[in-house]
Amino acid sequence: MKDLTNALLSWYAQNGRDLPWRTKGGAAPDAYAVWVSEIMLQQTTVQTVYDYFLKWMKRFPRIEVLAEASIDEVLHAWQGLGYYTRAKKMHECAQIIVQQYGGHFPAQRETLLSLPGIGPYTASSICAFAFNQPETVVDGNVIRVIARLYGIQKAIDKNDIYARAQKLTSQEHGADYASAIMDLGATVCRPQKPLCTICPWVQSCKAVKLGIVEEIPILKKMEKKKKEGVVLAVWDKKCRLFIQKRKGKGLLSGLWELPWTDDGVSFPFQSEWIDKHQKIHHVFTHFDLTLNLYETTVNEIPFCLKEGIFVSKTELSSYAFSTLMKKVLKKLS
Ligand code: SF4
Repeated sequence: MKDLTNALLSWYAQNGRDLPWRTKGGAAPDAYAVWVSEIMLQQTTVQTVYDYFLKWMKRFPRIEVLAEASIDEVLHAWQGLGYYTRAKKMHECAQIIVQQYGGHFPAQRETLLSLPGIGPYTASSICAFAFNQPETVVDGNVIRVIARLYGIQKAIDKNDIYARAQKLTSQEHGADYASAIMDLGATVCRPQKPLCTICPWVQSCKAVKLGIVEEIPILKKMEKKKKEGVVLAVWDKKCRLFIQKRKGKGLLSGLWELPWTDDGVSFPFQSEWIDKHQKIHHVFTHFDLTLNLYETTVNEIPFCLKEGIFVSKTELSSYAFSTLMKKVLKKLS
């Protein structure tokens, strides 16, 4: 095991990715930057997160600045990253860290787990990346590398992968090791056309010996629900669009939107609404949504709609919209 671990660490020293949330040359990592990057990287690719992270750190350079910002500012900065609950919980978490921990992230996994938006994976990542602890971090890249290294030819069992990954984890270099195995998965042990000839583990890799590299990992298939609904563009006589702020605690709460429904039946349809015969598709984690676009022009806000405001097209950019609503606005433009 130690040979594999050391070979990977040596490879990382030469080939590790240069990412803005990482520190190099022995400098102490900034736990705040590690946390921001880890939350952004949930459900989002490194390429997308790269620019968002830089802009975020410019806007909220310290956790105190984030804690003091309004939720509207936070959601506005998060626009386009999707899964807005992450931003709301970050804001809540920042306030707790400032008020209860003097602005310093706790280094204990159990304490981290008690904070909003921090689950087992993020807690392990913060412990490894920010505090150099020998925590085992298992994401999609790590699953692929471990499954191939051990030539696992059955559907992935995450506990099994975790146990195998744990045995390889460096006790002394937790941060470098966690970064190294992720980088190996992202740049060498890629889903398609892996670069086995330059892999530090090629001599031990069972998938290579068996000639089945690209057949692994074998993932369980998930059936996704399909939902269909309606979105309504309400214009006033001055060509301003009706928008409302989503209430409640759901996925998109706090964001601005056009009136819409995802069950296809709960809208109180009115005869003057015009079917634009345009569809907007959006993929959520647990379901795929298709919205049918309708349009109407009114003198005043219809009684069947919730509270909202009319805004001109040029003012729309000052409001935080979800990616779904941005797609709707694009159709309208
Ligand atoms: S040798 Fe190839 S398949 Fe095996 S771990 Fe390395 S890159 Fe992945």
